[in-house]
Amino acid sequence: MQDRKIKHVFGPVPSRRLGYSLGIDVVPFKVCSFDCIYCQLGNTTNKTILIKEYFPIDEIISDVKSKLQESIRIDYLTLSGSGERKRQI
Ligand code: SF4
Repeated sequence: MQDRKIKHVFGPVPSRRLGYSLGIDVVPFKVCSFDCIYCQLGNTTNKTILIKEYFPIDEIISDVKSKLQESIRIDYLTLSGSGERKRQI
């Protein structure tokens, strides 16, 4: 049984391409390597290319497991959410 609130997964959200997609948020709000003018989340507040563990991986996995135990349809797990980490080459 989980004592804390689930905070790293959202949805599942309906997607024409993926069906029902469960979002997994692995970075804090608006930590992103871009600041796209069309971003639905607003301006990037932490623009960075730093790759690191922003949240403990065990916490994220625990949230995903909790959500998967619910009797809801999930077709895909999508790593996305409050920002994006793109590797600059
Ligand atoms: S979250 Fe996505 S859309 Fe928003 S600024 Fe980052 S890359 Fe662009």
